[in-house]
Amino acid sequence: MTHIAVLGSTNMDLVTYVTKAPQRGQTVTGREFRTIPGGKGANQAIAAARAGATVSMIGAVGNDSFGLRLRDTLEHSGVDTDFLRTVEGPSGTAHIVVDDEGGNSIVVIPGANGTVDHLSPGDEGLITSADTLLLQLEIPLAAVVAGAEAARRHGVRTVLTPSPVQPLPPELLAVTDLLVPNQYEAITLTGRTDPREAATALLELVPEVVVTLGATGSLYLARGVDPLMVPAPRVTAVDTTGAGDTFVGTLAVALAEEKPVHEALSWAAAAAAISVQRAGASVSMPYRPEIDARYTA
Ligand code: ADP
Repeated sequence: MTHIAVLGSTNMDLVTYVTKAPQRGQTVTGREFRTIPGGKGANQAIAAARAGATVSMIGAVGNDSFGLRLRDTLEHSGVDTDFLRTVEGPSGTAHIVVDDEGGNSIVVIPGANGTVDHLSPGDEGLITSADTLLLQLEIPLAAVVAGAEAARRHGVRTVLTPSPVQPLPPELLAVTDLLVPNQYEAITLTGRTDPREAATALLELVPEVVVTLGATGSLYLARGVDPLMVPAPRVTAVDTTGAGDTFVGTLAVALAEEKPVHEALSWAAAAAAISVQRAGASVSMPYRPEIDARYTA
């Protein structure tokens, strides 16, 4: 079995559903409140585990009830949490207000994720034993760089999701094998509005790029090969939260299993298409047999 390590965030999403979001100084009565385990790191870990890899999560939760539930959620999907530390203080939270038009506003409090600013003893050993390291930008950049450098030292493939989008320092780009921005992130990183031009610009910085294009699919570029556009299956989406994380987690498993790139992208698109047809982020992620059944070459 392939082994994927994830160095990243765990968050409890605190989601409030309202007709219209309150203005400053206003109080409104909302309709519903849900606590939904998330965080891009945890979501990618769950996607990869359900897709059939052995997955280890490196990060931190707080010593509160959210921390217990975040750990439980990972373990329930088969993710190894031996390197997910419990630290003094609150877990990461995302405070999300969703209005009836589907618009949202979000405040993220990093909490325990903010303590992941270096590799702890044992982390490098774990990274060394993996085939692939998945990284995002919801923990301090210093740890992301340290993790990617450790992976590079040991020939472990690094896959970076540049979200939340921010300028990428040269020392991180130097140790990134595959960069997977969505369209918005690709445009923000490069200032190019055309996704293909943005992907081409990013390819000057890293050896392989996949730009995800929502319902349109994904665009793959690597040095010295023709660009590959892989369409997404046409489905009726009910909730696209976590689509990108499902895509990346599944893609990483396929590439680690040495599936050909086109097949890997289609397989990841099948997984993401299943997830957008169901509500929720990690709860909507498919298990391997479902992905195989939906996959068409
Ligand atoms: P993010 O969730 O990070 O914003 P995207 O919106 O680009 O990223 O979605 C990631 C992937 O999820 C897409 O490349 C596609 O495979 C799949 N996806 C997203 N939205 C849809 C949709 N409406 N129908 C089918 N697949 C989708």
